Amino acid sequence: MVLVTHAIIGTALAQRLGNLGAVFLIGFLSHYIFDMVPHWHYPSPRIVKAMHPSRMGKKTVSFSSDFFPEMARVALDLALGFALSFLFFKAEPVTIFIAATGAVLPDLLVGWARMWPRRALVLHDRFHRWVHSEIRLDDNHILGIGSQIGIIILFIFLFR
Ligand SMILES: [Zn+2]
Ligand SMILES: [Zn+2]
Repeated sequence: MVLVTHAIIGTALAQRLGNLGAVFLIGFLSHYIFDMVPHWHYPSPRIVKAMHPSRMGKKTVSFSSDFFPEMARVALDLALGFALSFLFFKAEPVTIFIAATGAVLPDLLVGWARMWPRRALVLHDRFHRWVHSEIRLDDNHILGIGSQIGIIILFIFLFR
């Protein structure tokens, strides 16, 4: 799922909890639950190639200009996730920030594991892979993008 969708879902579900620890936890857990739903990803061929499972536990991504276009897309996705969460939800900014951060953190940890393959990060990567739906809608852009837009609208409509 794209980071925008994760941020919206996490913020929607966690924003009304009174305690910031709970806000973070629910945002964080929502990521894994919704990664179980078959979904679409935008292509990141260079990053995905570098992240092949056979290279697990080895440093596979270094900051190089090759990755910039794909990393720029991830950064835009992340920025849009925060922007839309702040735009559509009415909770305190700190609550929204923590909920959205929790909701996108698992994917950021996966990326971090490639640059800094410490044991805890590699184990997390395995767990993320394990919970993640095996059905990918990556080739079906209409259904894939449409379903995520639908989820975003639904969560904003239900929880704003
Ligand atoms: Zn995914
Ligand atoms: Zn994920």
